[in-house]
Amino acid sequence: MRRDPAHVDAGPGVTQDMTAAGAAVAGTDAARARAFLERTGLPGLIDVHTHFMPERLLAAVRAYFDAAGPLIGRPWPIVYRQDEQARVAALRSFGVGTFTAMLYPHKPGMARSLNDWAAEFAARTPDCLHTATFFAEPSAAADVRRALGQGARVFKCHLQVGDFDPNDRLLDEAWGLLAEAGVPVVTHCGSGPVAGRYTGPGPVGVLLTRHPRLRLVVAHLGMPEYTEFLDLAERRDGVLLDTTMAFTPFIENAGAPFPRAELPRLRDLGDRVLLGTDFPNIPYSYADALEALERTGLGDHWLQAVCHHNAGRLFAC
Ligand SMILES: [Zn+2]
Repeated sequence: MRRDPAHVDAGPGVTQDMTAAGAAVAGTDAARARAFLERTGLPGLIDVHTHFMPERLLAAVRAYFDAAGPLIGRPWPIVYRQDEQARVAALRSFGVGTFTAMLYPHKPGMARSLNDWAAEFAARTPDCLHTATFFAEPSAAADVRRALGQGARVFKCHLQVGDFDPNDRLLDEAWGLLAEAGVPVVTHCGSGPVAGRYTGPGPVGVLLTRHPRLRLVVAHLGMPEYTEFLDLAERRDGVLLDTTMAFTPFIENAGAPFPRAELPRLRDLGDRVLLGTDFPNIPYSYADALEALERTGLGDHWLQAVCHHNAGRLFAC
C-alpha cells in the first residue's frame, strides 16, 4: 500500500486525523482521476456502486469497518470521512457525472424509511440515480412498489449483511415487480469478504431461473467466486457485473485476486460490466480503483464501455 497520509496512521480510533487525510487524498485523487479520463478518452465516469445513507447509519457502518467486524474479516481503514456535501463534491471532482446511493437494511422494518431518505437525497442531488432497497419481510413487495412509484431507478440487495435467502417466498412478488420494471438490482451475492449463508452463485442462480428477466448486477465481480459468476453472466443475458474493489492491491494481495486466465471472458462480456467503487467506504483512494482497472490491460475501448457507456445505456444518463 502506498504511504500517503491516509494510510500512515489509519486504524481504529483515529477518525479525526483521517477526516483531514481524506480531504487531502481527495485533492490528489481529483488530479489522478482526471488524468485517467484523459488517457482513456472518457467524457466522465458513471459509478453504479457508491454509498450514501442517513448519517446515523453511515456512522454505524464506519464503526463496524473500524472495528473490523465479523463480516469484514480484516482491518479496513476507511479513507473518506468528510461530511455528505464534501463527499458528493469529491465524487464530482473525480469526474463522476452520475452515481448511486447504495443503502441496505440489516433487519426487518428499515427498508421503507431508508427508501424515503434515498428519495429525498436523490431529489436534492440531481446527479445521483435514485436508489432503493428491500429486505425479506412481509412488506417487501409493498416497499418495492412504493419505491418504484417514487421513481427509484436502481436497487441494492445485500445478501451477506441481510442474511436472507433471495428465494424466500416473502420476496417473490418483489423480484417479479423488479423484473417487470427492468430496474437493475445491484446485489452483493459473492462470498467476499466473508461468506454468508446465502452468498455464492447457487442462490441467485436459482433466483434467475425463477425470474429470468431480472437485471441482476453482481457486485464486486462476484469475488471471490469470479469464475462461477462469469459462467452465470454468460448463461443469462440479464446479468451484469460491477467492478467494485476488484483488481485493487487491497483485494489482489489478500487472497481474492481475479484469475488472470479469466481476463478474456471479462473482456468479451465488456458490454455488461459496470464501474463500481464502494466510495466512500474504501481503504484506499478513489484513483487507485481506476488505475487498477487500467492495469488489467483490457484497453481503452473496454474501459470506456465499463466506466461510462454501459451504465449510460442502462440508465439512459
Ligand atoms: Zn458496497
